[in-house]
Amino acid sequence: MKFGTKAIHAGQGPDPTTGAVMTPIYQTSTYWQKSPGDNKGYEYSRGTNPTRKALEDCLAALENGKFGLAFSSGMGATDAVMKMLRPGDEVITGNDLYGGSYRMFTKLYAPFGIKFHFIDFSDPENIRQYINENTRLIWVETPTNPTMQIVDLSAVAKIAKENKLLLAVDNTFASPYLQTPLDLGADIVMHSVTKYLGGHSDVVMGALIMNDEKLYKDLFFIYNATGATPGPQDSFLVLRGIKTLHLRMKAHCENGRQIAAFLKGHPKADKVYWPGFPDHPNHEIAKKQMRDFGGMISFTLKDASLEETFRVASSFKVFTLAESLGGVESLVNHPVTMTHASIPKADRDKVGVTDNLLRLSVGVEDVEDLLEDLKQALS
Ligand SMILES: *Cc1c(COP(=O)(O)O)cnc(C)c1O
Repeated sequence: MKFGTKAIHAGQGPDPTTGAVMTPIYQTSTYWQKSPGDNKGYEYSRGTNPTRKALEDCLAALENGKFGLAFSSGMGATDAVMKMLRPGDEVITGNDLYGGSYRMFTKLYAPFGIKFHFIDFSDPENIRQYINENTRLIWVETPTNPTMQIVDLSAVAKIAKENKLLLAVDNTFASPYLQTPLDLGADIVMHSVTKYLGGHSDVVMGALIMNDEKLYKDLFFIYNATGATPGPQDSFLVLRGIKTLHLRMKAHCENGRQIAAFLKGHPKADKVYWPGFPDHPNHEIAKKQMRDFGGMISFTLKDASLEETFRVASSFKVFTLAESLGGVESLVNHPVTMTHASIPKADRDKVGVTDNLLRLSVGVEDVEDLLEDLKQALS
């Protein structure tokens, strides 16, 4: 089955009791048992719920995986992966990471005795020098946030396999429409479902998708034991959102293409980060592993102070100044004070997250209105 068909049908069929075409919201915490232990496959909704199960099967299908687990946020999903580690274990991850992941790794898990190496993945061979007998996991984000670097997933997967390490990929920025890391050798895909998968900025949710049954069982144990699982109402909303994922992504990519080109030619824009530019340092890898280049674009304002950057950020009329991304509406974000405030300045500067950087999540509005808004905000 192709992507759009899976987005609409995978995991879902007419409801067995009523024939309802759309998956019902099973708003129940518990399930009837005929005699103790004799049930219809559901016991308690922290562990399993039919609405959530339909969503998990759909997510697995979209990522070409066998198993899906939905969590109450992207951070909840990330946390479950980290709970597979033990004191003394080491993790290799990127130096250009989602701020919340960086905060979790350094403030929660490092004090429990887990060691993190924040490295430059632009040359995957760079990974080898950080691998030792304690290394367990490689955690990759691509495209990176907010400077849109692309990590060569096949090359990283090869190194992970050679050294028997788990490879987890945060696929939030790409969405499964643009990139399916399991096909490239990853063991776990993580999503902040809040973003493109939900697509309407009305739900916070996360997910993990995998192929290996043992890994699924281990992660399901953590999911059920710790309980960061989403409710049926949110699961329904995301199932509904996913039905248009392929249509929305096409529009995000097309609008992104036009806005990236506009910014590149604008005298007030200095660096423009978008992997679709032929002169982007990782353009060839992006072309190889992604279906298209997406609607996430970052750019710096030429010679702008923090105050001038704030002025531009506050003067949009169609773009909304807000954290998050991936919804139908266009957003503008100032990483230094918003999404990346928890990352120390020295580390931010190293990867180009400077005071004059703005990040756009290009929505699916009419692109003429978005271009007009950028023009007036930059003038
Ligand atoms: C938003 C985001 C997360 C965290 O997800 P939540 O749903 O907000 O908990 C993780 N990684 C990336 C790349 C994100 O954009």
